[in-house]
Amino acid sequence: MDLSLTDAEERFAAEVRAWFTANAETAPATDDLAEAVAQGRAWQAKLAAAGWVGIDWPVEYGGRGASAVEVALFNSEYARSGAAQLVNRVGINLAGPTLLAHGTAAQCLRFLPQITTAQEIWCQLFSEPGAGSDLSGLSTAAAPVDGGWRVTGQKVWTSYAQFARWGMCLARSQPGTTGARGLSLLVVDMTAPGVDIRPLVQITGEAEFNEVFLDGVFVPEGQLVGPEGQGWSVASTTLAHERGTTFPFKEEVVHEGYLSRLFAAAVANGTFDDPAVADALVDAYVSLVVLRTHNWRTLSHLGRGGEPGPESSWVKLTWSDMTQQLSQTALAVMGPEAPLLGPWQRQWLWSKAASVAGGTSEVQRNVIGERLLGLPREQRR
Ligand SMILES: Cc1cc2nc3c(=O)[nH]c(=O)nc-3n(C[C@H](O)[C@H](O)[C@H](O)COP(=O)(O)OP(=O)(O)OC[C@H]3O[C@@H](n4cnc5c(N)ncnc54)[C@H](O)[C@@H]3O)c2cc1C
Repeated sequence: MDLSLTDAEERFAAEVRAWFTANAETAPATDDLAEAVAQGRAWQAKLAAAGWVGIDWPVEYGGRGASAVEVALFNSEYARSGAAQLVNRVGINLAGPTLLAHGTAAQCLRFLPQITTAQEIWCQLFSEPGAGSDLSGLSTAAAPVDGGWRVTGQKVWTSYAQFARWGMCLARSQPGTTGARGLSLLVVDMTAPGVDIRPLVQITGEAEFNEVFLDGVFVPEGQLVGPEGQGWSVASTTLAHERGTTFPFKEEVVHEGYLSRLFAAAVANGTFDDPAVADALVDAYVSLVVLRTHNWRTLSHLGRGGEPGPESSWVKLTWSDMTQQLSQTALAVMGPEAPLLGPWQRQWLWSKAASVAGGTSEVQRNVIGERLLGLPREQRR
């Protein structure tokens, strides 16, 4: 594996760094989620106007056709700049790659440019009250009607649904089927009659996710992504991207920053002299190096034209363990007020969701065991 950058890649990284140095905007200092989303849209539009969103997408869809290595360099430099993250993350990280892999050219032309500018925010309508880890057990029904489908069911934990124009909805289009068969991926207009969105407040006090009730919502046939009845294979692309193509390069840099601030704080306030704290910080450093090594391997795989596969479960698991461990260590370093006050409070509270969102840690372990290590499949009762 050759880990050195070419001259062109070095120049690209320098260009990204220079742009962010001149233009980076930090996350808005507001507790009002709607206000934060409005500001996030403006920031993303600015990035898109400069060609810095969906950079690996084809030019005609708003991207710049960047290579996998350039995407990784871009994500690292973006994170290093400390700029606010993209508001349309579901659109960029999940819907976009899914449409590019399975959508028609007309769908890509219609949806992708609006995703890059955050003019249209997307959400992911997968989880249901009775189907999370066992997603293929979902029961939302898409009944065929003249010119499309009518979708009825309940989705839950839908991040940013209250701001979304479009939702990627996994629904059962073939009645009488069970499991992964007979599902379809439909693009639901979140402003259509029959869509009812009810925000849910999280432990952080914010209501980023929602319950979404769908009552006979009409979806025209042009909004089917991939073949009818093959939604499971389309959704598998979405899930592989959710678990680890974009975020680990960014998170490597973000965690590096957290860790160096924590090391400095521990040395300054004397907690580094506590062997338990010192061990925890060193463990966090080791996890960071492991993630970095894995990122290099991913890069080499993507650089050879590979697609994200089950190894993304390993990245997701490593990242969520690392996030939770580091947030816990922060409490030991910062002292008893850390869970109540200051910048670590939200991080610590949010970290609880890391081992659930995007597939739980137990489920990632099952994927690693069965698909990477070739262990026997789990016995389901
Ligand atoms: C912050 C956040 C944002 C989210 N955003 C979205 C979103 O935008 N769109 C969306 O569709 N979903 C979203 N989700 C939902 C998320 O994908 C699900 O919560 C997750 O897949 C787990 O499903 P569940 O909550 O139904 O838990 P369950 O599947 O009911 O799991 C409960 C427990 O049982 C364990 N378990 C289940 N099956 C197994 C097994 N086979 N082996 C071992 N243990 C098992 C799980 O690990 C877990 O500990 C979000 C969740 C969070 C926390």
